Amino acid sequence: MKTYKIAAIPGDGIGGEVISAGVEVLHALASRDGKFSFSVDEFDWGGEYYKKHGRMMPENGRDLIRDHDAILFGSAGHPEIPDHITLWGLRLAICQPFDQYANVRPTRILPGITSPLRRVDGPELDWVIVRENSEGEYAGVGGRAHQGHPIEVATDVAMFTRTGVERIIRFAFRLAQSRPRKHLTVVTKSNAQRHAMVMWDEVATQVAAEFPDVTWDKMLVDAMTVRMVMKPESLDTIVATNLHADILSDLAAALAGSLGIAPTANLNPERAYPSMFEPIHGSAFDIIGKGIANPVGTFWSSVMMLDHLGEKPAANRLMAAIERVTGDRRFHTPDLGGTARTADVTAGVIDAIHGANA
Ligand code: ATP
Repeated sequence: MKTYKIAAIPGDGIGGEVISAGVEVLHALASRDGKFSFSVDEFDWGGEYYKKHGRMMPENGRDLIRDHDAILFGSAGHPEIPDHITLWGLRLAICQPFDQYANVRPTRILPGITSPLRRVDGPELDWVIVRENSEGEYAGVGGRAHQGHPIEVATDVAMFTRTGVERIIRFAFRLAQSRPRKHLTVVTKSNAQRHAMVMWDEVATQVAAEFPDVTWDKMLVDAMTVRMVMKPESLDTIVATNLHADILSDLAAALAGSLGIAPTANLNPERAYPSMFEPIHGSAFDIIGKGIANPVGTFWSSVMMLDHLGEKPAANRLMAAIERVTGDRRFHTPDLGGTARTADVTAGVIDAIHGANA
């Protein structure tokens, strides 16, 4: 029997609550299936660890998780620690060295969930956003000089390499090709940013020639926000830079009903390093410890993890269980207008796993 080694990093805020729900569901899935199991190692890295040790994870942290099959991550963010420290000290400290350059964010309206968009109740909104996850605006290139003086200068340089752009656009075309509609929208801002974004457009045109069966179009990021709201049915697979896709995917998550539902995969497609799976929401300190965090984003992220591990039937079974539960209003947490608790949703999904024939 195959045993998958999973590194669980709950992180901060509601991370602990949703990750323990996710681990419970994974074990239930393994016992239902009987063909594989999970060995889960939990790491207490994050804001509390920082307060004790002055860093978000130990210096050899990456060595401790390098040989795991996948990483399940909760959230990074602490009210007493600046966001750039929590982000760069943990999430990006894993994503970047592990070259998880493809950040994949599926968005669709699950059964029972209401979109804030009128007339949209399902098939009209079914997207996958591919976010470049290793360079661009979040490359970490830049600096500050003359700190605290009136002449202080601060720069963040958006850095794009042809290799980086080519690999993410090729990844996105391949993903678009695997989906029924075979359509890709390449998002840039190549009217105002006339160097790197123009290179994106050029690379997209070149790579498109390798995928004659995929239709594609280009959008400026500002116009893209309008299209997402006004013509959601015209979109399918979307690729954009680190910053642009970060913003667009929060909009996408809101349009699909709640931040609590949306999943993410940070993939190293070459599998030289483990990939990392996480809900897109943050630490949500306003609801910590209340037992009402929506665990669906973590469950859906676990579906992506199972897919990545090659456990397609188990991934399908978990997705079917999630959809059965979202379709039943009794399992809606307060972010969806309901009164269910994290534990109710978790129990509902586990029941559905055992009952579902998916
Ligand atoms: P961070 O700074 O770590 O990104 P945040 O609290 O600023 O975190 P999010 O956690 O992304 O931002 O979410 C914003 C709000 O959405 C939260 O304050 C919370 O009320 C709600 N929310 C987010 N995730 C969930 C969830 N899983 N279940 C219920 N509500 C959620």
